[in-house]
Amino acid sequence: MTLVPSPEAQLSFLTKLQRLFAEGDFTATYKFALIIALADLAVELGADDGGALRLSNRSIAAKFIELYWQQTAPYSTGRAGTAPGVLAQNNGANAAVLTVIAEFRQSSPVATPLSARTLAGYPALIRRVADTVSAQPLQYLQNLGGQRDQFLYERARGVTILLPGVHYCLRRFQPLVQQLARSRWIDHIKRNRLNGPLLGEADDLEAFLFETPRQTLAEIGAGLRLLNGSRCFYCGSTAHEVDVDHFVPFSLYPRDLIHNFVLAHPACNRSKSDTLAALPHLERWLEHITRHHDSLQEIGHTVGRPADRVASRSVATWGYANAASSGAQAWLRAGLYEPVGASYTNCFV
Ligand SMILES: [Zn+2]
Repeated sequence: MTLVPSPEAQLSFLTKLQRLFAEGDFTATYKFALIIALADLAVELGADDGGALRLSNRSIAAKFIELYWQQTAPYSTGRAGTAPGVLAQNNGANAAVLTVIAEFRQSSPVATPLSARTLAGYPALIRRVADTVSAQPLQYLQNLGGQRDQFLYERARGVTILLPGVHYCLRRFQPLVQQLARSRWIDHIKRNRLNGPLLGEADDLEAFLFETPRQTLAEIGAGLRLLNGSRCFYCGSTAHEVDVDHFVPFSLYPRDLIHNFVLAHPACNRSKSDTLAALPHLERWLEHITRHHDSLQEIGHTVGRPADRVASRSVATWGYANAASSGAQAWLRAGLYEPVGASYTNCFV
């Protein structure tokens, strides 16, 4: 196992990343998508060691498709004085990735990012997106203030290799990296004068760009109810109304994976809020995603959201390991918390 980066190295990584946001040239939103994609892949495929991580450009392209899919649909504020339309992601002609995805969606109108994978045209879509990602953001991301500073990755044919220590830092600071990239992405879209007539004073841009639509959440809830009835995952009480809750909080990992959704009655949901769930819940969740794997996969296919048990498990492993190392508390029930200790991380072995 390679040594993990020292605290100084981690700090210098964050400083560089901040410089990248401050000094990088962002004519399109691609670079934000690339940073989010690399951080997601580091969480899902990486480990907590200081080694390098090899990523295929196609796996990065698949993340781009997932990220931009929703954004190829017209955005509408529904308010007077604004017109619905597809948001511009580029200061000039619209971004090629968007055009390619939009074309694909026109030829397969019912497809979702997930069901698209089984369609005949998908390999060509991946290839085209991977070509653009390779020629543009991967090529230019590491240019800071007019100079190349190769601090994140090196490239070889068809692959991107995160340098030693980089995927460790991306995992460690994932929520921060996501938040930075998302807020700059939103900002970029707001500042683009082409979007003026669409946006007006809209304030729901973050939800439109990055969150699972309410309608889809309702469908996920209906699917989960078929598995366990309207029972709260945390306290077991049967509730007339149940919410769809992120087991690993959305604030910690803002990407919706089907295996990470459970039903919770509103009081438990509110009380748990943005904390991780305590050991008995974690053990039950690990059992739940194994026992109901096939059904969860099916719900994912129906609603078109990613259903990936391995990724969900790695996200939880990562979330709890970070919590244990920072001395965080986990939520047991209303008003009762306990420290995240070694027994938590042992669950994943
Ligand atoms: Zn409850």
